[in-house]
Amino acid sequence: MSHTQLNNCKIVFSDFDGTLTYKEGLGPVFFDILNFLESKKVPLVIVTGRSLSWGHFLLTHFPFLTDVIVEGGGTIVSRKGKFITEEPMVSEAEIKRLAGFVLEFEKAFPNIRLSVDSFGRRTDRAIELHDLQDGVLFHHIEDFLRQHNINFSTSNVHLNFWCGEISKYIAVDYFLKKQSVNETDCLFFGDSLNDQAMFKSFHNSVGVSNIATIMDRLIHKPTTILTGDENVGPFGVLNYLKKNL
Ligand SMILES: [Mg+2]
Repeated sequence: MSHTQLNNCKIVFSDFDGTLTYKEGLGPVFFDILNFLESKKVPLVIVTGRSLSWGHFLLTHFPFLTDVIVEGGGTIVSRKGKFITEEPMVSEAEIKRLAGFVLEFEKAFPNIRLSVDSFGRRTDRAIELHDLQDGVLFHHIEDFLRQHNINFSTSNVHLNFWCGEISKYIAVDYFLKKQSVNETDCLFFGDSLNDQAMFKSFHNSVGVSNIATIMDRLIHKPTTILTGDENVGPFGVLNYLKKNL
């Protein structure tokens, strides 16, 4: 993407964990990013593996945000004034099939708990990665998911699984078409495996420097890859925005 195009950037999309957070925390630099984009009048749409209830939290507490894509693309949450609407990207049948599968899963893996935020999830469920340190167990779970035709992906913190076609890109593409905004006029920041659908199909994607830890596992890489400690997570996002917007 040339810098001239970036001057007309219509929407900035960004992953949340590891991209807008640093060491699992939401620091002052996150607010610097919000303030910077607000001053440029460029909306930020967070595209995260976090739950629907997290989407509510973000929209309720950060007035600059009006749309958030959660559950890895499973639901688009929007706010108009004080009214929040939710648009699931999969059918009610898929949502029910997932709920049924969870019961099977709990029978097969009685010692594995779903992530605490799974109660706030609708189109997917999650397991904390730190509960899956045992590689053999991880593979058993992956096999079980495959046998049951359940899709899955890992974020920085979770193994997420769901029914139906869900990806960050499908939801972003749907969102852009609805707004009649061209994808090439937008930018995406990410750092993890669950950002891969975006890296694959989105023209202007940026990997913050901590993406280096998973680079060899990425089949599709971002078009721009930031390097150096100064470009870790939100610092990389802010540096890139300041240089290019
Ligand atoms: Mg991430």
